Amino acid sequence: MFRVFGIQLSLHVSFFLLLAYFAFEGWKTGGVEGAAWSVLLIILFFGCVVLHELGHSLTAMRYGVRVPRILLMPIGGMAEMDHIPRKPSAELWITIMGPAVNFAIVLMLLPVIWNAQWFSQRLHFQDFGAVVALLAQANLLMGLFNLLPVFPMDGGRILRALLATRMPHLRATYWAATSGKVLAGAFALIAFFYFNKPLLGALFLFIFYAGDAEYRQVLIREREAAYQAEFWRRVAAMRARDVTENEPPEPPIIMLPPR
Ligand code: ZN
Repeated sequence: MFRVFGIQLSLHVSFFLLLAYFAFEGWKTGGVEGAAWSVLLIILFFGCVVLHELGHSLTAMRYGVRVPRILLMPIGGMAEMDHIPRKPSAELWITIMGPAVNFAIVLMLLPVIWNAQWFSQRLHFQDFGAVVALLAQANLLMGLFNLLPVFPMDGGRILRALLATRMPHLRATYWAATSGKVLAGAFALIAFFYFNKPLLGALFLFIFYAGDAEYRQVLIREREAAYQAEFWRRVAAMRARDVTENEPPEPPIIMLPPR
């Protein structure tokens, strides 16, 4: 769509399906006006999702992370970062600033809700209070939902950063991802069978696989780093012994246990 603070804001194609769905739902209950309201609410809601992602992105940029794009999908937003700092305090701040934006929005909307009558009269806008109240409620839910300790959601990242202050990065990721997978699996079952909400269940299954994928990515990166380090250590050792043979050193075999 456009750039904010040098970050490209993009919409996934499926986003238009979501807009069409909500327009249809609104139209069923209130005709054209209902459809317009429904679409307006969704746009306001995803505006808050963008602000949440900007909270992460702008903090990350302060830590030297490049953020080329924020992608909006029907299940939420995603700020694409070229790397996530290994320093636990950096990851902690970058993560916390997302939900913090939502809670800040709630705090800013509270006085408006309390004085809804006053605003409605001046703006000649009947449902003004209701819209603001809905938006505040959505932001409160967004902030709290993202703080669930399910890696790679914000709460899970906070858990990883806290664990990483006491153990190696890989091990911290393993434990955050494993406990996250157990919780995501349990939440998915509860959503499917207790609340009968298949979409929410599918979201938790998606989070389950995303957590597993990110852990494996960290594992591969650690193995590659260990391989490189060992390879160059052997090269340096050969040079130190002044070996003039043309053969390169034998490639090392690195095995990293997951914990
Ligand atoms: Zn977030």
